[in-house]
Amino acid sequence: MSKRKPLVAGNWKMNGSQALLGEIAGALVSYQGEAEVVVCPPFPYLAAARAALSAGVHVGAQNLSDQPEGAFTGEVAGAMLAEAGCGYVIIGHSERRALYGEDDALVAAKFARAQEAGLVPVLCVGETLEEREAGNTEAVVCGQLMAVIEAVGIDAFASAVVAYEPVWAIGTGKTASPEQAQEVHATLRQTLAEKSPEIASSTRLLYGGSVKADNAALLFSQSDIDGGLIGGASLTADSFLAICQAAQ
Ligand code: PEP
Repeated sequence: MSKRKPLVAGNWKMNGSQALLGEIAGALVSYQGEAEVVVCPPFPYLAAARAALSAGVHVGAQNLSDQPEGAFTGEVAGAMLAEAGCGYVIIGHSERRALYGEDDALVAAKFARAQEAGLVPVLCVGETLEEREAGNTEAVVCGQLMAVIEAVGIDAFASAVVAYEPVWAIGTGKTASPEQAQEVHATLRQTLAEKSPEIASSTRLLYGGSVKADNAALLFSQSDIDGGLIGGASLTADSFLAICQAAQ
């Protein structure tokens, strides 16, 4: 494992309940591993999550507005998330890109707003199956990363996390092999290194896409994989705890 502190984030998406929060909080009380753990429930549970989770467990949001405040009905500002107790926010998840039309410019604007509010962005990048089969994986993921680097500057990545989430592996049960994931992670780290070797070596790169308790350890053992962004398996206390324990 690298010298970077591993990070495991659970993305509940539009799932969960107050009861699930109690179960996850209860399970994580016994967690004493190496990883930083982040729980990202839907907006209405954020403040309750902060109250329920142990102090060492972070709370993250799944989205934020690109605007600081104002007449934007239904949107949530970064400062509000910070006030609710969030330390992290997921930006540019493939579901936001595909279902809500978030393009690289909007993703970059949200990244900047997150940092203005003192939140650590977890920037998601990933290719579709079609893009992978056409041999475009590197161009797509590095393009998504470069779009944000060019907008906010490489120094902003001193306080950011990048998550490689192949779209074809999200919620499908198809996990990238450890070798496939490592190859893309190394490429992403190289892209960062071309701008700043220091930032490249300290930035945590998470893998996401059907990570489960039984495949997490092998994925996390790859040299450029610093933890995971977990969807479905973060909705069961036992499996989320086991995945956190696999990160060391
Ligand atoms: C995700 O949505 O970020 C994700 C990785 O989902 P899953 O683990 O269910 O594939």
